[in-house]
Amino acid sequence: MEWYGAHMVGSICVFCGSNSGNSRRYLEAAQELGELLGRRGLRLVYGGGNCGLMGAVADACLSAGGSVTGVIPRALADKDLAHGGLTELRVVGSMHERKATMADLADAFIALPGGLGTFEEFFEAATWTQLGLHRKACGVVNTAGYFDGLLALADRAVADGFLRPQHRDMLLADERPARLLDRLVAYTPPLLGKWS
Ligand code: AMP
Repeated sequence: MEWYGAHMVGSICVFCGSNSGNSRRYLEAAQELGELLGRRGLRLVYGGGNCGLMGAVADACLSAGGSVTGVIPRALADKDLAHGGLTELRVVGSMHERKATMADLADAFIALPGGLGTFEEFFEAATWTQLGLHRKACGVVNTAGYFDGLLALADRAVADGFLRPQHRDMLLADERPARLLDRLVAYTPPLLGKWS
């Protein structure tokens, strides 16, 4: 548990690929982040999977002495996709329930490289911050510039009048997991809701 100014950060939700990608750098970034969370006593909340970067971030956190909560829908757990060695595994009824549970349990959100599932989960968490449903920071580990295209799309959305600059600035990005984590826990998103 870490205190930053007025708020407390104890759990970080990580969204990331169920594949490992084809560069070793992605795996290393996942391991670095997992180890960091474990060493700093920050609980990892994630999708509960045993494969790809998901498995890697969980394994690294556990090896560093950390606590890991996985939240997995019954349909995926039944396919033997759940990690067997977590501190806690919550099996839920649907993808929707999973995302709501992960959002409730976490104080901030990080995306590592991944595919559609990662994009969707990260943008949903950021949208909930934008709407003021929660006030939790969101950031991406931009390994090898993986998220450059996504950040450029957000800039385009500002330029074309679909996104407020203050909401674009909520999307933190850093290539180094440690630096991103420091920035994330120190950051409180603006109160400016989309419709305020
Ligand atoms: P993707 O980026 O498309 O690989 O999807 C990864 C995200 O979707 C993760 O953050 C998970 O929450 C979810 N997900 C996809 N595949 C799995 C799986 N095999 N086991 C658990 N969660 C998964």
